[in-house]
Amino acid sequence: MTTTSVYLGLDDTDFIESGCTTERMNHLINYLIDQLSVIEQERRLVRLWPFAENRTRGNGALGSIIKINSNKKNKLIEHCYSWFKELKNDINSKSNELVQPSPCLIISFTKFPEDWYWSSVRGHVDASFRKKQLDLKNCIIFTHNSDLGIVGASAAIAWIPSLTSSWELISWRRNELIGTQREVNFHNLSLMDRKFPETFVNRDPTRKKGLIAPRTPCPVLYGIRGPSSASVTEAHIWLQSQNNTEKCLSYAVHISNQLSDDHISSTCTGTVVSEPSETKGGHSYLDVISDSQLSRIVAFREGGEVNDLLRKLIPGDVISWTGIVSPDDSVHLEKLILINPSPRIDRRPYCCNRTMRSSGKNQELRCKICEKTTKKYWIYNNNSIQTNMWVEPSASNRRHLSKPLSISHPIR
Ligand SMILES: [Zn+2]
Repeated sequence: MTTTSVYLGLDDTDFIESGCTTERMNHLINYLIDQLSVIEQERRLVRLWPFAENRTRGNGALGSIIKINSNKKNKLIEHCYSWFKELKNDINSKSNELVQPSPCLIISFTKFPEDWYWSSVRGHVDASFRKKQLDLKNCIIFTHNSDLGIVGASAAIAWIPSLTSSWELISWRRNELIGTQREVNFHNLSLMDRKFPETFVNRDPTRKKGLIAPRTPCPVLYGIRGPSSASVTEAHIWLQSQNNTEKCLSYAVHISNQLSDDHISSTCTGTVVSEPSETKGGHSYLDVISDSQLSRIVAFREGGEVNDLLRKLIPGDVISWTGIVSPDDSVHLEKLILINPSPRIDRRPYCCNRTMRSSGKNQELRCKICEKTTKKYWIYNNNSIQTNMWVEPSASNRRHLSKPLSISHPIR
């Protein structure tokens, strides 16, 4: 018996507040195992360009590599067709939802070019353009509503994991509990962090907040991230054995581009040329010149230390940053460092334990006690500004794709 590898890509199956593409993919794979005894070799969770239109915040697509008996190719296509038809019916039954998803399932017997992934994680890809590229490949595409889901579904197939890719174990809730409060307690997460130190971003210690459970009424119970399949599986089994943890219906381990910084093309360095400005919402921005190009960099209120540092910058400061260019051409900062600060004016010189004062324009500085005068000058002090230390938002405010500073070592 000869076997064939098949690449599956799935995206945009769900509504903003309900459902989850991870669960749909799990459902599809279990159905194919049931019907055709396929063997799954790899499940993928691939996050894509954060500004892609009509996407929910995480913008994640799913992929899977399965092995099938070579003479079952047509059967596989038939089963995928009927599964997709059910998905369409389910989506149509929720026609009262404002934003309708545009699901896409791709079945391919060959790999896709890796640059399809890079273009989809670093910028906008036109769905009709990707469709033309797909037309040249030997693959089967199911879509509904529009072609928008094509970009993510094809990128999930095109992505090539590396030795440093991270892993996420996702567990799903029992149907009758979906929509109710999840029982995942913070104390257990702290214990899990200690018992399984290899796993990461399970909680935000600065805000005493668990990060593994989503806050929308979707079917996901929680996701545990780590550097290997074994590390997340062990942590999950331990967590499930604890009394105060909701028992999951099922789970699967995904290899992922999360925490990779793949969406960042490079670290930039430049000179600040404007004072920082603040918006009503607490965001701040300023202008920098980098490679003789003027750009505006923006730090959001949620950016925490990034926002704090940006507000302290002054013209002449030399800084480095990473971030992504938004559709309005400003750079949304993710990490920031002050490399070479301009001198900060602190005060006028002291005399007789008092600050010397000028009596007006073109006047010298004068001590009111001893009457001594001196030419006007300032005392500088840069002690209050931190240099040469990267800052980033707190764990709960980082993108799925962003690599935390704490993971400076390569992920295995
Ligand atoms: Zn004096």
